[in-house]
Amino acid sequence: MRGRLFIFKSGVGCFYKSADVIALKGAAKTLLNLFGSSGVRGLVNVELSPILAVKLGLAIGTLTRGGRVFLARDTRVSGEMLEKALVSGLLACGADVRNFGVRPTPVLAYLTKKLEADAGIVITASHNPPQYNGIKIFDREGLAYNEEKQKKIEDIIKEEGYSFAKWHDIGEVSNENDDSSYSEMIERNIQLERKWHIVVDTGCGATSHLAPLIFKRLGCRTTTMNAQFDGFFPGRSPEPDANSLQPLARVVRELHADLGVAYDGDGDRVAFIDETGAFIEFDRILAAYTAHVLNKKGGGKVVTTIEASMCVDKMAEKYNGKVIRTKVGDVYVAEALRRLGAVFGGEPCGAWIHPEFHYCPDGVLSSVLLLKALEHEDKVLSKFVADVPAYPMIRKSIQCGNEAKVKAVERVKELLFEVSPAYKQLSDIDGVRLDMENGWILIRASGTEPLLRVTVEGESLKFAEEIMNKTLSIVKKAVRDVKG
Ligand code: MG
Repeated sequence: MRGRLFIFKSGVGCFYKSADVIALKGAAKTLLNLFGSSGVRGLVNVELSPILAVKLGLAIGTLTRGGRVFLARDTRVSGEMLEKALVSGLLACGADVRNFGVRPTPVLAYLTKKLEADAGIVITASHNPPQYNGIKIFDREGLAYNEEKQKKIEDIIKEEGYSFAKWHDIGEVSNENDDSSYSEMIERNIQLERKWHIVVDTGCGATSHLAPLIFKRLGCRTTTMNAQFDGFFPGRSPEPDANSLQPLARVVRELHADLGVAYDGDGDRVAFIDETGAFIEFDRILAAYTAHVLNKKGGGKVVTTIEASMCVDKMAEKYNGKVIRTKVGDVYVAEALRRLGAVFGGEPCGAWIHPEFHYCPDGVLSSVLLLKALEHEDKVLSKFVADVPAYPMIRKSIQCGNEAKVKAVERVKELLFEVSPAYKQLSDIDGVRLDMENGWILIRASGTEPLLRVTVEGESLKFAEEIMNKTLSIVKKAVRDVKG
């Protein structure tokens, strides 16, 4: 029986469906596109089973030639089951495994580089619901595996080209509790002057122990919420957003705290509540922090994805910054950051990368750096984002059969300039994006549904609505053309 593996493709929560992937039934020969842009991800025991985890362990053990591999997981119920399978595969290929247990993704990525492991693996489905899990791999530089390395893993699995160790060379596993070099890295580099009162909502995820500890060590008055490991995520969704953080917002208001911070399940994303209890939109805080970094550095390159609001560009312009946009996914942002020597990078889902520290998005580090930025600018959080323009963004969907989606997007690419013949730029980095003087349009195929998703942002609501109407008629035409 043929199965389908849903692959996490986007840093903001949509799923791409890979072509006819068979993972559960052992028919690895037809395995394609195992990785999304944030690792392998799927429904536990339906799309991501221990069988696939063993194969990934074997492939990583083969690729690293039985080297030193670090391992961690988030708090999900299925984490230990997948961990055992993954470790089994790694040991079989002679890899020595240091298992850090439940740790945030950025901590494991940092330790991988700092302690010179050959690879780091985190078992996590990030912000997805508890029934999902995933496997994300980092190289010895602490960078998430890029497409080239992912392809090597896929090829090894596809060809079953595993390098099994001889019986006397099978790897060893050790449990490791010492992650102190991570918190030392933060304490060494960042000292806070104010005694901030912050409310930390760790959502029962992997930051539940570490984040409050770090804030306390930095001298903050720290109130915690959902700060216990629980893979059912009973307190709130592992995805921090305006809706799931309503209780946090209420606590910040009632305690008159300075701000609230919250992380996703594996701690590479952060969301903020200001001192009035208002949720700060992801794009606006990204733009404000971008401006802060550029101001401090006297300009430079910053990296974000094609989905980020143009308020990032507006703020970057003010401070002599150049914005480079990549495909959606932290792997792409991290790669571009390193290649271009950019000063900062981030996705508008709260995944920020600070290249001076490491190349993995890091929620806890981001929140500490934000406090430092507030001190530096002597502002409360609501004032910190006050200069960022709020542009209206509209999102719509158009029906389009799964088999026609790719062709339809290609056709949209040919027609889209009609919306605004005097456009500034047409890009196909990820879907199709048209940039205009006063706004932009993005069309991408949905990963899970027979839909094309259309996003429009404009300087005014009237302009955004006009552009959306024109775009929808072009997208509908493209869908008709493809259907013939
Ligand atoms: Mg995450």
